[in-house]
Amino acid sequence: MSELVTASIEGLRPYQAGKPVEELERELGIENAVKLASNENPLGASPQVLAALPGLLAQIGRYPDGAAYKLRQAIAEFHAVSQAEVICGAGSNELLELLYRTFTTGEHHAVFGEPSFVIYRAGALAHGVPFSAVALRNEVHDLAAMAAAVTPRTRLLFIANPNNPTGTYVGRQALERLLRDVPASVIIVLDEAYVEYADAPDYPDCSKLRHLRERLVVLRTFSKAYGLASLRVGYALGPAVLIDYMNRLRAPFNVGHLGQAAGVIALGDQVHVARSCELNRVERARMTQELASFGFQVTPSQANFVWLDTQRNAREVYETLLRKGVIVRPFVAYPRHLRITVGTVAENDRLYAALRGVLA
Ligand SMILES: *Cc1c(COP(=O)(O)O)cnc(C)c1O
Repeated sequence: MSELVTASIEGLRPYQAGKPVEELERELGIENAVKLASNENPLGASPQVLAALPGLLAQIGRYPDGAAYKLRQAIAEFHAVSQAEVICGAGSNELLELLYRTFTTGEHHAVFGEPSFVIYRAGALAHGVPFSAVALRNEVHDLAAMAAAVTPRTRLLFIANPNNPTGTYVGRQALERLLRDVPASVIIVLDEAYVEYADAPDYPDCSKLRHLRERLVVLRTFSKAYGLASLRVGYALGPAVLIDYMNRLRAPFNVGHLGQAAGVIALGDQVHVARSCELNRVERARMTQELASFGFQVTPSQANFVWLDTQRNAREVYETLLRKGVIVRPFVAYPRHLRITVGTVAENDRLYAALRGVLA
């Protein structure tokens, strides 16, 4: 063991991001690689955001508004809550980290699903917080088992809904039961990074859940359906007491000027969000069908990606697709699985053509 860091930090590995397009193009000497690995919006940002950005550049020599006043105001209005119930972060990733930093020590305990968003585990390891990673059941969060994993030390319980990487969701009734049954001392974090894409009739509306418990924090991001991944903007909604504590530890200028302004404009362009979700709805159905036709077992998705059991060594499929200029997402811990982001019609067609080549 190193003398420099704790055992759990020693055991951490850097976040494994999807391979950048430029890197693959350099390696292969090609120009038209397609990235279906990081769940970005294939249409990119709203045209209104793109039109406004040049005019914002003159201000980048100045520090941004540390309180992100206008962005929090827009978010508060959008959700019909008060500004004291909103905190912005450099992506919701920063807010996940901030939740650990603010509310836990090594004396506490966290609960999350397995597989779920890797940052829940990374945050626990980084801060030396003991945790229970509760296996999903039939690819869905097992809320009863998660509730049963709660101890008197549990401070944070994370549910990604829809879940990453499985794309599955928990319905309103099951979630309501969890929010009611888990002891009031636990902060339940509902990570809704993919909420805009969910269209199941019993997908829960978070604004109708808040009365069920005080300690509920909802996370949203501008990185997915809003198409602002590179600007790093996300937010949390929660009771003012919790938000106030998080604000005390927040880095003063955590969201830049461009991100704050773009967030306000993006939130105002719900037409772009609807257009993006409609493309995703049609192409997600087509992708599910196409991938199944290759003999893969595809989990029904409520998000903008699908999770599939390739029934073989997924690393080989991944490597072969790479050589054809298509980047998807493998998982070391799940050697038969891949996660594939739903792209544009043309991007998805590239994937299917490449797969035909691979499996022929
Ligand atoms: C992508 C994602 C996030 C958000 O990432 P940021 O870019 O940091 O906002 C949060 N949770 C889950 C489950 C995600 O997949």
